[in-house]
Amino acid sequence: MTNMSPDEFRHYGYRVVDWIADYWKHLESLPVAPRVEPGDILRRLPAHPPEQGESFDAVLSDLDELLVPGLLHWQHPRFFGYFPANSSPPAVLADLLCSGLGVQGMLWVTSPACTELEQRVLDWLAQALGLPERFRLAGPGGGVIQDTASSSVILAVLAALHRASAGRVRRDGVTPGRYVCYVTAETHSAVTKAAVITGLGEQAIRQVPTRPGEQAMDLTQLRGLVTADLVAGHTSLLAVATVGTTSTCAVDPVPGMGALCREHGIWLHVDAAYAGVAAVCPELRWLHDGVAEFADSYCTNPHKWLLTNFDCDTFWVADRAALTGALSILPEYLRNEASESGQVTDYRDWQIPLGRRFRALKLWAVLRCYGLAGLREHIRRGIEHAQHVARWITADERFELTTPQRLSLVCFRLRAANQANLDLLARVNATGITFLTHTKIDERVSLRFAAGGTHTELHHVEQAWRCVQQQAATLLAG
Ligand SMILES: *Cc1c(COP(=O)(O)O)cnc(C)c1O
Repeated sequence: MTNMSPDEFRHYGYRVVDWIADYWKHLESLPVAPRVEPGDILRRLPAHPPEQGESFDAVLSDLDELLVPGLLHWQHPRFFGYFPANSSPPAVLADLLCSGLGVQGMLWVTSPACTELEQRVLDWLAQALGLPERFRLAGPGGGVIQDTASSSVILAVLAALHRASAGRVRRDGVTPGRYVCYVTAETHSAVTKAAVITGLGEQAIRQVPTRPGEQAMDLTQLRGLVTADLVAGHTSLLAVATVGTTSTCAVDPVPGMGALCREHGIWLHVDAAYAGVAAVCPELRWLHDGVAEFADSYCTNPHKWLLTNFDCDTFWVADRAALTGALSILPEYLRNEASESGQVTDYRDWQIPLGRRFRALKLWAVLRCYGLAGLREHIRRGIEHAQHVARWITADERFELTTPQRLSLVCFRLRAANQANLDLLARVNATGITFLTHTKIDERVSLRFAAGGTHTELHHVEQAWRCVQQQAATLLAG
């Protein structure tokens, strides 16, 4: 085969859209988790690429035969592991358009609409989530789409270093042992990774204890550590406040952390990867308490719970000059009049890579097709599902909640040893009926039930819970 003709593309395009529609329609009848051993799929794939081109039919049939049986079905309505990784029809269609357009949005001039749609959509989302004016277009800050929350925290560290060193780090690099960052044991591991990547090293990470019996940062302990670092001659660079921790959806005390950070010139990054999008509901705006007053940077992931397929992390900074100051480099081959006029935004200076996809398209499609009302309905449905699960757990004396149900996440355990809980998880997931994951809270293994899937309805939640109960009954009987 050479290039597909437009008509052939149309033919296979329809087939692929049909394929996806059928996949979604029949997902329910597939086991949620695959039954494969390491290497099973690799062994069935040819060791060498084909010399002569094949038809796209061959690709589709291998997708069915070889790959689908090896997938964990994240869009399955009974998938309740990790956090949701929502995909949705408008987002998928817009992502296809993004691929078809194939534009690069690294500079304003390389596709003006790519940059300006992103600016508008991030401004829309900032309004929808109750984020402050200073993050918006008209203010000194601004928003940008990143691939992931992990990239956002790397950028926060780089911007913080630029500000704290008055630009010297750009030239001289990081002075070993000088800068420190504050997190808790519940903060996402991406922050430690960011310290490693940016050259601060793991030794820069200060793990602030959480309040006893809770999973949120203890402010008194934070104050103590900051003071000790000051005395020891370290520079307190950055604190990460998590709104909705990965393990249990705990919320750090952002206003208190913010006040302390302001007092000491510490950059406050708010990581709301999972939970932030829930603030689209007015009754959940409290999630952003303190962000307006104190956050230097903030991110949330529409690719988790806001119906926008991966990758789409939305990142805002209060002062874009710190970010672009840390990152902008202008080689001759990228020079252009628009950039030099200072009237345009070049998003390459707001991210790690140079090239960038037209990701705003899918977020725009989601915001337009669902509307804020549709998004609120989706968030509220996930929370209602979690509330049901929490009630059923409380009503079954074999089980207990390990933390209060928070948003669409329920952490619970069998009132039994850690090993029994791990066994229960393995049995549940082996049924193929549902899929859960686990965490450890104060040394106790807990199962996590994370609702919020795009296709999940109450009867799916009921089916999953019955499965957990049945497996618990067999486990306890055995
Ligand atoms: C999921 C998650 C992350 C990491 O998300 P990526 O976008 O995959 O990097 C970071 N922080 C929190 C709180 C998360 O829940």
